[in-house]
Amino acid sequence: QIQRALRSLSVPLDRLHIMKGHMMQDMCRGLSRYTHTQAKVRMLPTYICSTPNGTEKGNFLVVELCQSQVRTLLVTLYGDGNLSPQMMYKIFDMPEGIMQGEGEALFDFIAQCISQFLAETISSDSSSSEERLPLGFVFPFSCRQTQLDKAELISWSKGFSCSGVVGKDVVQLLQSAIDKQEVGSGGAGGRWLSPWRSWKLSPFAPGQLSRVNVVALMNDTVGTMMTCSTEGRPCEVAVVADKGSNCCFMAEAHLVETTEETSGRMCVNTEWGCFGDDGILNDIITPYDECVDQESSNPGEKRFEKLVGSLYLGEIVRHALLGLTAEKAIFTGTDAAVLKQKGVFTTQQVLEIINNEDSTTEVKRVLEVLGLQPSERDCGRVQQICRAVVGRAATLYATGLAAILSYMCRSREMEQLMVNVGVEGELYQGYTRFEEILQSVSKLLAPECLATLLPSRDGSGRGAAMVTAVALRLEAQRREVNEVLAPLRLNHADLEKVQALMRQEMELGLGRDTNATASVRMLPTFVCGTPDGTERGDFLALDLGGTNFRVLLVRVTEEGISMASEIYVIPTTIMQGTGEELFDHIIECIMDFQMKQKLAMDNLPLGFTFSFPCQQVGLDKALLLNWTKGFSASDCVGQDVVHLLRNAAQRKQHVGLQVVALVNDTVGTMMSCGYDDPRCEIGLIVGTGTNACYMEEMKNVGTVEGEQGRMCINMEWGAFGDNGCLDHIFTHFDRVVDDSTINPGKQRFEKLISGMYLGEIVRHILLEMTERELLFQGRPCPKLQTKNIFQTKFLSTIELSNGLALRQIRAILQELELDASFEDSVLMREVCQTVSLRAAQLCAAGLAAVVEKMRENRGLDQLSVTVGVDGTLYKLHPCFSYNLQKTLKDLAPNCNVSFLLSEDGSGKGAALVAAVASRAA
Ligand code: ADP
Ligand code: MG
Repeated sequence: QIQRALRSLSVPLDRLHIMKGHMMQDMCRGLSRYTHTQAKVRMLPTYICSTPNGTEKGNFLVVELCQSQVRTLLVTLYGDGNLSPQMMYKIFDMPEGIMQGEGEALFDFIAQCISQFLAETISSDSSSSEERLPLGFVFPFSCRQTQLDKAELISWSKGFSCSGVVGKDVVQLLQSAIDKQEVGSGGAGGRWLSPWRSWKLSPFAPGQLSRVNVVALMNDTVGTMMTCSTEGRPCEVAVVADKGSNCCFMAEAHLVETTEETSGRMCVNTEWGCFGDDGILNDIITPYDECVDQESSNPGEKRFEKLVGSLYLGEIVRHALLGLTAEKAIFTGTDAAVLKQKGVFTTQQVLEIINNEDSTTEVKRVLEVLGLQPSERDCGRVQQICRAVVGRAATLYATGLAAILSYMCRSREMEQLMVNVGVEGELYQGYTRFEEILQSVSKLLAPECLATLLPSRDGSGRGAAMVTAVALRLEAQRREVNEVLAPLRLNHADLEKVQALMRQEMELGLGRDTNATASVRMLPTFVCGTPDGTERGDFLALDLGGTNFRVLLVRVTEEGISMASEIYVIPTTIMQGTGEELFDHIIECIMDFQMKQKLAMDNLPLGFTFSFPCQQVGLDKALLLNWTKGFSASDCVGQDVVHLLRNAAQRKQHVGLQVVALVNDTVGTMMSCGYDDPRCEIGLIVGTGTNACYMEEMKNVGTVEGEQGRMCINMEWGAFGDNGCLDHIFTHFDRVVDDSTINPGKQRFEKLISGMYLGEIVRHILLEMTERELLFQGRPCPKLQTKNIFQTKFLSTIELSNGLALRQIRAILQELELDASFEDSVLMREVCQTVSLRAAQLCAAGLAAVVEKMRENRGLDQLSVTVGVDGTLYKLHPCFSYNLQKTLKDLAPNCNVSFLLSEDGSGKGAALVAAVASRAA
C-alpha cells in the first residue's frame, strides 16, 4: 500500500516530457492574440521591457502588499552596478477585516503605511526637496496590465476579497489614496504614535507624501527577477516557489501579441498556477490532491499550484497519511484522528521531517507534537511520503522551468540558451534538495539550455525598486532618444513641402532662362521614345558610374534579350587620376572583353551608360557637367564624353568602335523596363546614388528646340537642395556627413537617400548616442569612429531581424567591435529605421512631384504609370520600397503608380537606346 502511494506520487520522466510540451503549448496559447482568453497559463504582459544595467540611481520607495501585511521599503541606488544598495524597511500588520472589507479602506491603509514610513525614514531637512519620489507597488494578484502604471485587477486570491476593486486600475486607487492622505493631513491633527506593527497610524509627513508618485506596478515574481539582475549579468527568468507558485521571464515583445509593443523584450508573468485547470494534469493528480483541492476555497482552480505551492504540501501529506491510516498501512498502534483536522500538518513540519533524512528522531518529535505515538516503522513511512510529495513538487517546478527555457531558446532562434534564473520562496529556502532537483531535472528536460540559478537575497522589494528605477531610466532615455531623432522624423506637411519644392525646381530646370539657377538640372536626353518590342540586333554596352564598371554584349531577338558581361575594376587611382588614364582604361577593358567574346572583328553599335550629370547636345554628344559618386578624373568636366572615349580608342588604335548613344542609368532603367511594360515612363535609381528620369512634353522643355512629342528628361535630382532650398530639413548629422565627402555642399538630396550615405548618417547618430550615454552605456567605440565602417547593407540586416534574433546582428556587432546589450541593438535598429524611413519618404516626395506633373501635363484626373527601378538599396532593403510606395500614395493620391524592378537596366537599357536609335535611323 505504501509502495502504491509512493508510486502515485512519482511522475515518470516520459510523463514530465509530455507535461513540458503541454506547458509550452499553453504558453503559446496565452501569448496569442486569438487564443489568450482560453489559455490557462495566462501569460500576462508586465510592460517591463528591460532588466537593470547597474546605472540606476536615486531613491525609490516600494510598497508591497503581502498576506496580512504591508511592507514598505526605501532603496537608495548609487549607479554602482547595484552592488550595494542601501535599504530601509518596515512591516505593518494589517488590521482584522481589511482583507475582506472595502477596497477604499485597504488603499487608505496602504497610504497611511507609506506616510508613516516616510515620516520616520526621510529626515525633515530633505523634505524640502522638490524631487518626486517614485514608488513601485508590488501587488501579487492577477492583473490585466496595459501600461507599467496601469493595471486592472482581474481577481483577488490569497484570502483577499475587498469590494469595489476588481476591474479597477489599482495604481489609480493607490495614487488617489496617497493624494487624499496629503490633503487630509493638517499637521496639527496628526497623532504621532508608535506604528511598529500597529494599526494606529497617523498621516504625518505632509511635505513627503506629495512627492510620492506611483510609477510601476508589478507582481512579486517580477520583483524577484529584477533583484537578481546586476551589471553585466541580466536575470531573465524568475521562479517563485512559495505558498503560491509563479514564474516570469523576458519574452520577445513581438510574440506578446496581447500588447502593441513589438520591439525588444517584455517580461511576461506566466501565472502558471492555473496550468492544468483544463484537466491536462488529471493523470498525475492523486486522490490526495483531489481531497486537497476539494477542501480548498477554490476547487478546480490552480491545479498546478496545488501540486507545488507550499500552502498545500502539508495538506497533501496529511491526506496521504489519512488514506494510509484508513488502509491500516500506518499508525496501526495509535489514534490518528488528529489527522482529520485541516491544516494540522504544516509544510514547515514536512520540511523538518525530510531535511533530516538519516534519522527518524525528528519525525518522531514532529508527530508526537501532533499527539501521535508513531512506531519506528511509521516514522520511516511518514518520511518517505513527505519526501515523495516535496520531491514531486520540485520535479514539477523543474518541468515548468524547462518549458520556459525551451520556449525562450526557440523564440530567440538560438541553438543554445544561457540564462540566469532567479529563485525565491519558502520551498526553495526550506528544502535542501530543491535547487539540485530544479537544476538537474530541468537540464534533463531542456538539454539545449544552460540555466544558472541565482538565489534572490532581498525578496521582491528590492526588485520592485529596480523595476521603478529601470522605468525611470528608460523614460529619461526615451526622451533623449526622441530628442536626437526628432529632426530626422518628417511629417506629412514636411513631405508635402519637399514635394512642392521639387516641383518648383523642376519648372526652373526646364525653363530656358531659369535652367542655370535650378538645383534640379532637368537634362534633355534626346531619347524621344520608349521601346516598342520590335527592336532587333546585337549591341555592345558600357556601364560606368555604378559600383562596377561593366562591358556587355546584348542580343535583342524575337525570343527576348540575352546578355553576356564582364565586370572590370576601376582602381581609385584611376577614378581620381587623369581623364586620359580613365578612358584609356575603359578602352582596354572593351578590347579585353571583345577578345574574350571573340568579337574583335565585329563592328557593333555601342550604347554607353554613363551615370553622371551631362549636358546632352545629341544622343551621342554629351558634356560632362560634374563628377559624382567618388569620381574626380581631371580634364573631363565640360568635355564631350563620347569624344573622350573615341579619342582614347584612337590612342589605343582600336578602330571600329561605333558609339551610337550615351545614356544615363536612369534612362537605361526606364528603357529596359519599357521593353516589358509600355506604361513605363519613369526611371528611378536608388543605389550608390539616387536619380530619376521621366517622359516630359517637348513643349515644356525650354532648353531644346521643338514642340512635338516627348523627350526623356534626366532630372539629376540628387542635386536637389544644392541651392539651399532644403536647408530646413538637413540635420546636424547630414551636415557632418556632407562635410566629409569629396563634394561638400553638392548632391544634398542624394546624401539623404542613397546607399553611399545612409550608413554614414547612422554611424554619426550612433556616435552621438554613445556620447550621450544612450548606447553601450557610454563606453567609447573606437572602431565606430572609422569612416564608412557602418555599411548601408547593415541597415538591411538590422531592420530585417524581426524580434531581433541576434544571430544575424552579432556578426555586424563583432565587425564593429561593439559590445552591445540587447537593448543597444533595439535602439540601433530604431536609428536604422528612422534613417531609412526618411530616405524612402524623401524619395517618394520627389517622385510625387514627378507623377503629379505628368498627370497635369496630360490633363488627366487619374494617371496610371509605371516606374522602372534599379539600385541595390531599393531592391535589398527590407522596408525601403514599401515605405516609398506607401508615402507616394499619400502624397499623390490621384496617381496609380506601379513599380517594375529593372534587371540589369543600365546594360540592357543602353543597348535598347542604341536599338531604338538604329530603328529610327
Ligand atoms: P550602383 O548604384 O552603384 O549602380 P547598386 O545599385 O548595386 O550600385 O548600389 C550599391 C549601393 O547599395 C551601395 O552603396 C551599398 O551601400 C548599397 N547596398 C548594398 N547592399 C545593400 C543591402 N543589402 N541593403 C541596402 N543597401 C545595400
Ligand atoms: Mg547602378
